[in-house]
Amino acid sequence: MPDFDTVILRGTVVGPTGEYPMDLGIADGIIQAIEKDLSGQANHEILAEGCFVIPGIIDSHVHINEPGNTDWEGFETGSKAAAAGGTTCIIDMPINSLPTTINAEAFHKKKEHGENNCLVDFALWGGLVPDNIGQLESLWELGVIGFKAFMSNSGIKKFPCVDTTSLKKGMKAIAKLEGMVLALHAEDDALTAKLSKQYIQSGNTNYTDFLNSRPIEAELIAIKTAIELSGETGCPIHIVHVSCAEGIDLITEAKQNKVDITAETCPHYLCLTTEALDQWGAIAKCAPPLRNPFAVEALWEKFRKGEIDTLGSDHSPCLDVMKKGEDFFKAWGGISGIQHLATISYSLIREKTNWSLLDISKLLSTHPAERFQLPRKGKLEVGMDADLCVANFKGRNSISSEGLYYKNKHSPYVGLHFPFQAKETLVRGRSVFADGTIQNNGRGKFIRFRI
Ligand SMILES: [Zn+2]
Repeated sequence: MPDFDTVILRGTVVGPTGEYPMDLGIADGIIQAIEKDLSGQANHEILAEGCFVIPGIIDSHVHINEPGNTDWEGFETGSKAAAAGGTTCIIDMPINSLPTTINAEAFHKKKEHGENNCLVDFALWGGLVPDNIGQLESLWELGVIGFKAFMSNSGIKKFPCVDTTSLKKGMKAIAKLEGMVLALHAEDDALTAKLSKQYIQSGNTNYTDFLNSRPIEAELIAIKTAIELSGETGCPIHIVHVSCAEGIDLITEAKQNKVDITAETCPHYLCLTTEALDQWGAIAKCAPPLRNPFAVEALWEKFRKGEIDTLGSDHSPCLDVMKKGEDFFKAWGGISGIQHLATISYSLIREKTNWSLLDISKLLSTHPAERFQLPRKGKLEVGMDADLCVANFKGRNSISSEGLYYKNKHSPYVGLHFPFQAKETLVRGRSVFADGTIQNNGRGKFIRFRI
């Protein structure tokens, strides 16, 4: 009987200590060996000559809108897009489905939909809203990996933002739940609401007005408040989609002051600027908004210094029609990007820094697994889940709307081209994407916090 179910031969494995030419043997969904000369010992062989074998991407910032808004994006289409881009585990945000994931009942519904329809593994964020503090403990017991709250209007009525009082109460409660982190959308509600109102009331509603209504200052006010409250309550926090260098500075300073805080940014803040709004209109609308080229370069400077902990796609899809219309303030804010998290990150970071592939994999795989305590995930090592992507860097592969697996095929990344290309994606040893085709081999597993 063969020793392995699958072996990956003659690739360069991005392992925990570096990149080395090795074969990788998988049995029962687990990495059993990383050695030379494993050929002839498996039911199935994957030839990875000229390719890298990288840890599967853990996209810790994904909005799948199922149940309730599945016509925006469902687990099936969203997870196919993930698989095609080398992502093996997604962590779903609690906001865009109906019901929103703010209590046990909603959690069970969400989990059931994921188990039925998600091709890759998935974990869930629970929501923190002003009136669900009594629900947090049961969500923790059910296995959410953390909580998410908005410090400004979320755009969804069923997911109201927290004010300072409810945020502090929520943080106190979360601090008591062992291992939990609070992810924060950090923009100041008072400032963004005031500016938005001014522009809308005066009939100024184009994209420049929208940009002006969400200045960097709004992010800084909110991040400062979050840091202060985290220090007071002991609640670990994760600031999602930081769009500016000044925000990263505040987080770095807080880390030095022993606040338990991490920072995420997204590919769109690194590869797009406000110019994309001119080209794409609302398809490139997100909050915080895209920044000008100088601000993007400043964010890269922080990135190079290693001051950013994780990269997530913030895939936030919607119906095509929700991106249309004259009033830019009314258009849905959110960028569709789950399919290209690895493509853009690996390609651009490799081009713009002297980082190794191992360094890059930490932001996309290892750090999310560690910060959100996903067992056996995040690196290629014997004993870990066989979540991986066989990829190469060859030529320039254009992103086209026909190639998108999304339910609504829009993305501001269309037309860009990058050398990174996922050739095959394995989730616990099961092939979900190979040679340009989705492999509908079963379903992903719900990954429970820590167990
Ligand atoms: Zn988001």
